[in-house]
Parts: sequence; C-alpha cells; structure tokens
Amino acid sequence: MIKVTKPLLPSLEHFNLHLSEIWESEMVTNHGKKHNLLESELKNFLGVHNLSIFNNGAIALLVAIKALDLPRDSEVITTPFTFPETPHSISWNGLNPVFCDIDEKTMCIDADKIESLITSKTSAILAVHVYGYSCDVYKIEKIAKKHNLKVIYDAAHAFNIKIDGRAIGSFGDISMFSFHATKLFNTIEGGCLTYNNESLRDKIYLLRNFGIKNEEEVVDIGINGKMNELQASVGLLNLKLLGSEVEKRMLVFDTYLKNLEHLEGITLMNFPQNHTNSFQYFVIRVDEEKLGSSRDVIYLKLKESGILSRKYFYPLCSDYDTYKSLPSSKKEHLPQANKIKNEVLCLPFYGDLATNDIIKICNIISCLARTSN
Ligand SMILES: *Cc1c(COP(=O)(O)O)cnc(C)c1O
Repeated sequence: MIKVTKPLLPSLEHFNLHLSEIWESEMVTNHGKKHNLLESELKNFLGVHNLSIFNNGAIALLVAIKALDLPRDSEVITTPFTFPETPHSISWNGLNPVFCDIDEKTMCIDADKIESLITSKTSAILAVHVYGYSCDVYKIEKIAKKHNLKVIYDAAHAFNIKIDGRAIGSFGDISMFSFHATKLFNTIEGGCLTYNNESLRDKIYLLRNFGIKNEEEVVDIGINGKMNELQASVGLLNLKLLGSEVEKRMLVFDTYLKNLEHLEGITLMNFPQNHTNSFQYFVIRVDEEKLGSSRDVIYLKLKESGILSRKYFYPLCSDYDTYKSLPSSKKEHLPQANKIKNEVLCLPFYGDLATNDIIKICNIISCLARTSN
C-alpha cells in the first residue's frame, strides 16, 4: 500500500530527550519553554514580524477572524476550492461566506472577480494559497485598500514560500499556517498566525487563552488555542529535519515530472519564476478529452494497485449541504471551480517515496493515456 503522504517524524531517541526535560520541569503546557522557543524559531525561519503558534490550524483561523473585529453579519469573500475549515471559520464567527470563482491557472481565488462580489456588507477577503500557488497578493492588496477590506490568507499549503523574495506570511492582515501531520512541517497537530501589525499581538494572545488577562480579569471571548510542550518539541525537532525532507521531495518532484511530462492531457505543477514551491503536494490536472481517461478512472486504477491518491478538492465547499443554498454557490457563478474539481488529483508525495513506486504510479497513468509512449 502506498499512502498519499507520510508525516515527517523525528527519531524517538531525540523526542525522548525532550520528554525527559518536560517531565522534569513539570511544565507540560500553557506557554512553556519549548512553546516559546518554537515560536521564536519559526518567526525567524519564516521571516515574518509577528508569529503566534496554536494547537491546530483551525483554531488559529477562527482566532484570526475574531481578532479583526469584523462587523457582525458582514460578508467575507472566499473560495469554494478549499478545505472545509476555510468557509467554516467564517460561519463560526457569525459572518457570511460569499464564494468567488477561481483562477484557471493557479486555482486560487480569481482576483479579477472579487470586486463584482463586493457589497455594502463586505468586510473581508479570506483567500487560500492552493497547493502552494500564491493568490494574486498584489491585486488583492489593491482591492482591499480601495474598498477598506481586511485580508486573511489560509496559507496551510504554503509553508515557507517566498514571492519576489518576500515571505508569503507577510502579505495581508493575517495568514494562517497549519502544522497538521499531513502538512510539510508538522507538530502532529498545530498551526500559527503571522501578521505585520504589532498591535494584533496582545489581542491574539488573549483570544488564544480564553480571554484571560490576569488572575482577576477576563477581557475577551477567547478560546483554548494553546500548543502544548509535546507538540512544540516535535516542532523544534522537525524544523531541523525540514531541509533534508525538502531536498528529498525535490527529487520525487523531478522524477514525477520526467515520467509524466510527455503525456498530453496531464498538466503538471509549474510555478512562476518569482515564486518558490512549498513541496507539500504533487497535484496533476487531467484533461479527460486529451488524455483519453478521466481523473476518476486514474484514481480508481491507482487504488486497485494499492496506491492512494486524493481528489483534493472535490467536492467544492459550495457543494456541501450547509453552503449549497447560498446564492454565491450556484454553479453558473463558479464555472472554473466546477470544472477543476473534476480534474485535480494529488499523487503520493513525501521524501521517502521510493523511485520505483513513483515510476509504477506514472506507468499506471501512462497506460491510461490515449497516446502513451
Ligand atoms: C489543513 C488545512 C486546514 C486546517 O488545518 P488544521 O491544522 O488541520 O486544523 C485549513 N485549511 C487548509 C487549506 C488546509 O489544508
């Protein structure tokens, strides 16, 4: 069985050293030593001004929206081509998601279609850097300025990406990164927020800790978003392993490219010159007409051979029961998203994926092609 991903894990020996220290200190959570060290190491690593870590990415995103104090019942423009948490984070905050179609190339929110969705109730844009492709951050910045909107990025796929040499987490008001086990960098479960505005720091700190200011004052409606010392230890160790993991993934990436690029009907990942790759996913786009086989057939054939791939993102968030009755969910408003959801397939991707296995995967896909050579 070949899995679609494998968590990056430190050696048990190294983790046990951290465990011994934690047991000795009897400080297992609540902004402990390892928590604070990971927070500062990540801030330097990602090259951002402010960074707050969380127990998972979902809570971080909820807090990000809450911290911006958007008017109750206001509308947030977002993408349907994402993980469920993205629109859920809007709804959980008592706000209304409005779905915008996606760009045919980057599969991120189509910045050219945002303005037509802005109403007097719009308060923010929540965009997603899908598979590590960045949104059109410059255009979104312009639109936000013009209409006085906040910008939040779900950067769960975009760890350590640079655009024109600038950290991706430094765009917009707040960005969220996920450190879930399936992401490139993981703390088993975890996440963080990055932001430029120093004045958000105290607010985020309070919201992450129930709104508790001190022993006698609770000043905000907070939640428990604290990362514990065990998670933080995994993070500290994994941060050291990241360089070699990315190097291994680069080779996997190249092997996939070499073995698939001759296939007409398969579009491979291709990042612009000014843009680095996060090496978190390897996604192909299948043009059924050109290839002679559909995405779903490839998915099933791989599965029959014990190879797990993922139709990520299928279905769209606008197809979910909770959101499908929204006016913005209508298929005719989201033509690209509804087309691309049937084309994408994430193939197995992690550093230890054996070359033989990659070739096996590519051969299965090649055999399904009309003009394989
Ligand atoms: C993983 C992911 C999340 C959720 O992060 P968790 O850390 O699992 O809570 C949110 N959005 C996107 C796009 C994701 O891929």
